[in-house]
Amino acid sequence: MNNKIKDPTVVDVVIIGTGFSGIGMASQLRRQGASSMIILERAEDVGGTWRDNRYPGAACDQPSHLYSFSFRLNPDWPSVFSSQPAIHDYLRTVASEEGLLPYIRFNQDVIEARWDADLAHWVVYSKDSIYYGRVLVSASGLLSDPKLPDIKGLADFTGALFHSARWNDEVSLEGKRVGVIGTGASAVQIVPEVAKVARHLTVFQRTASWIVPRPDRDFTDAEKGMFRKMPETMQELRTSIFWENEERYAQRAAVPSLLAKATTIALKHLEDQISDPELRNKLTPDYEIGCKRILKSSDFYPALCRPNVNLVTVGIDQIESSALVTVDGVRHELDALVLSTGFEATELPISRRIFGKDGLSLAKRWENGAEGFATTSVSGFPNFFVLGGPNTGIGHNSQVYMFEAQIQHVLKALQHMDDGGSSMIEVRTASEDRFRSSLERRASGTVWMTGGCTAWYVDPRNGRLTTLWPDYSHLFQDEVAPFDPADYVFEVSQAGAL
Ligand code: NAP
Repeated sequence: MNNKIKDPTVVDVVIIGTGFSGIGMASQLRRQGASSMIILERAEDVGGTWRDNRYPGAACDQPSHLYSFSFRLNPDWPSVFSSQPAIHDYLRTVASEEGLLPYIRFNQDVIEARWDADLAHWVVYSKDSIYYGRVLVSASGLLSDPKLPDIKGLADFTGALFHSARWNDEVSLEGKRVGVIGTGASAVQIVPEVAKVARHLTVFQRTASWIVPRPDRDFTDAEKGMFRKMPETMQELRTSIFWENEERYAQRAAVPSLLAKATTIALKHLEDQISDPELRNKLTPDYEIGCKRILKSSDFYPALCRPNVNLVTVGIDQIESSALVTVDGVRHELDALVLSTGFEATELPISRRIFGKDGLSLAKRWENGAEGFATTSVSGFPNFFVLGGPNTGIGHNSQVYMFEAQIQHVLKALQHMDDGGSSMIEVRTASEDRFRSSLERRASGTVWMTGGCTAWYVDPRNGRLTTLWPDYSHLFQDEVAPFDPADYVFEVSQAGAL
């Protein structure tokens, strides 16, 4: 027993994480007058992925006027696609102005959360504290834990080594020989910035990405003034971006004419920016557009044309002290290596720390693929809701919109519990099965399943689309935000009185 454990804290709701979903959940609870809650944050600051991904060039490829809370529009977004510092500042401001700071416990990495059936409470452990919560909301994110590549000798690399989501500010890349592994959404933002300062940059590409232009620009003072004085103009802009994005869903559903149109735009972008046929060939994807995330960048291709940058498409063999050796035997001597290799999305690390009825871990419950009724509740896990978990990812629209729909579902569930004096709520397996079948039906035939690529959207253990929502975003709102008590069982008992 750890003798440094403090006295237990007992609250109504324990939320894990202070990214967009955790802050959104806590804000709405506060707005409804709730005060018995705790938000556990493993770091020293709020922000989730927008705190952690502070690599050079980090920005959002969704327009900020949509990629923000519907209840906290921001007239001061500096540009169409805001940078990481601006988004992080926004989240800090929301947390502060929504009065959440007194409820956040920083440096509280959740080691374990266990459902206690006798108490009808969750018992949540960090290294030095215990929290009891009637309800547990996991808002720990889909893209929070870096995925490290399995490359022989990686641990013995003698240069500086770090993942894109754990950028090491203490290492200057100025004048260095730098390698970047990966050419996904993070890498296309990192490469142009590192190319400006590195002596030499080698980009190791395993699979080419489809890339379209990123039409970014700063908002003028006049525009920001208008947004401030006439907030309805922000709302109109938000709505127009949303519906423009929704049109893109039809592409992913593999409508041939739309796929062809998107392919033409991306190929033209490649041709416009890369004149060398050999390089263009290396950068031309060999799978259907949309199967992996379509990237938006106007400076990645030009960066690859710089004299100090080269693109290597030969496979990686191993690392030998200061060199990355490719399978053709070429040694690439490097002072620093950036792993832009993505996240543990299909097998969420937090699922190994959450234990429901009969001690079943969420990881075990999800061994055949993560799933949840309305993407939000899981049978065997009473009084538990997961935000930003299975089938909540969205490639064509705003992730924040998705979180807000889930938050509505949770709020209604909690209201129903309170109205009926319930100590326990658990989703019915029949409702869960129905929801899963509906998702599988919709996923089949989409470009994610048939496009001929390997992406983190599909669980490699079973070939199911478990991270993405396979439909229009507005249908997510229609299906996830409502709450029908018939989908759940409730219990009223005295056991919950802690
Ligand atoms: P990612 O899209 O998963 O890309 C990882 C890259 O690393 C891929 O190019 C992958 O190649 C490569 N890779 C992984 N393991 C490798 C290995 N062993 N050897 C060689 N290459 C390897 O990761 P990400 O770029 O961090 O993006 C993840 C997600 O974060 C995105 O899909 C997006 O949802 C989000 N994101 C969003 C933004 C934004 O602007 N909103 C920005 C950054 C990230 P393969 O393709 O061959 O697997």
